[in-house]
Amino acid sequence: MPLLEFTDKGIYCAAGKFYIDPWQPVDDAVITHAHADHAYVGHKRYLAHHLSREVLYYRLGDIQLQTVEYGEKVIKNGVEISLFPAGHVIGSAQIRVEHKGEVWVVSGDYKTEDDGVCTPFEPVKCHHFISECTFGMPIYKWKPQAEIFADVNQWWANNLQNNLATVIVGYSLGKAQRILQNLDLNIGNVYTHGVIENTNEALRRNGIVLNPTHRITQESAKDEVRKGIIIAPPSSVGTPWMRKFAPYSFGYCSGWMAIRGAKRRRAADRGFVMSDHADWTGLISAIDATQCESVYLTHGSTASFSKYLGEIGFDAHEVHTLYGGEEETSPQSSPEERESSKEVASASGGEDSGGVI
Ligand SMILES: [Zn+2]
Ligand SMILES: [Zn+2]
Repeated sequence: MPLLEFTDKGIYCAAGKFYIDPWQPVDDAVITHAHADHAYVGHKRYLAHHLSREVLYYRLGDIQLQTVEYGEKVIKNGVEISLFPAGHVIGSAQIRVEHKGEVWVVSGDYKTEDDGVCTPFEPVKCHHFISECTFGMPIYKWKPQAEIFADVNQWWANNLQNNLATVIVGYSLGKAQRILQNLDLNIGNVYTHGVIENTNEALRRNGIVLNPTHRITQESAKDEVRKGIIIAPPSSVGTPWMRKFAPYSFGYCSGWMAIRGAKRRRAADRGFVMSDHADWTGLISAIDATQCESVYLTHGSTASFSKYLGEIGFDAHEVHTLYGGEEETSPQSSPEERESSKEVASASGGEDSGGVI
């Protein structure tokens, strides 16, 4: 009997009687991070990292939650659980599970580049690694973050000269904070859509220090807002809320911007190729660093990526899960996939779900 198995409720540890990121209600859920496709409502007990606490309460309401530090050990029915940094968003963790000398690691979502905002990814040695592979194709190769933000800041400064407001779109947990912490505040103030600011406030309650932001309300002076930069969620694209700042230039931050035509499909003026997931090289180096005997792939390009890993000598398997929401649905996926991912996200309180367009 393997220590972890894939069930119709999620990844299950029979010896420890707990699930990792289950999508059906269970008694004991260990949560990698607070994104909607990983943290569902309805479980009896939750275990997550300290820095996920306030966002989980904000998104899921009054849940029974135990939080731990990275590396801290929790024993459930004789099985040892510990969390390690995943570098995906603030509070995100890989879950290490050990029992009778056998070690499994569930990556959740991760990125290997240090974004300066969340605790950097740390490879964890294991026998079996369950890895996401959202961007598991060679065309996905991210530029260093500093280069991307030099482009973002230059674009903002140019807009100001051309009397255009600047709207930058990214998901409320992860991308929004990464943008906020890397903007050149000498150019102007940062204004936020309510969905973004609610998440920022939850993170600040959790002790995270973020750059100053101004929540956009009915009272906000439009002329002032137009001189700053507006951080908005994907669900606000094309809405009257956004149109009231016209004329504006609208930039979209996503790994999918690496695909030709993605910017046009999202009707963006600028596409910034920026992701909170590992790129092709990052995935391979992360998997290699675990020194695992076998790797199980979830999210995204599982078929082609597991085939490739098999060719270069890994024992790789494709696994079907319900993960893949927030940024993880390709703009080229079918309308059915987009709909189901929307439902998953909205059923579990993912207020950014409108962005899967
Ligand atoms: Zn995620
Ligand atoms: Zn995910």
